[in-house]
Amino acid sequence: MHPKKRAKLKAERKRIAKERIDALFEQASIRPQFAKRYVRLARKIATRYNVRIPARLKRRYCKECNSYLVPGKNCSIRTREGKLIIHCKECKKITRIPLK
Ligand SMILES: [Zn+2]
Repeated sequence: MHPKKRAKLKAERKRIAKERIDALFEQASIRPQFAKRYVRLARKIATRYNVRIPARLKRRYCKECNSYLVPGKNCSIRTREGKLIIHCKECKKITRIPLK
């Protein structure tokens, strides 16, 4: 296959992967009973297609237990010293995200 065509196909696959990740997170917010499964799948897709999970979604799940995080429900979010401190109440994991 022509290298240019291959690169184009790869870009296309990545674009689709990003769309699927977005869609899965949306589903996770709508259907809490399957949220963990959706988060796990979204992360799998990100790994498989080597795409990043967008920053706005990074704070929506727990890296440890794949919970979809809803502030005031299963997590607490605070800011401290320029960092976002996310406390997952499902597994007690604390995640720190630097703020820009
Ligand atoms: Zn957790």
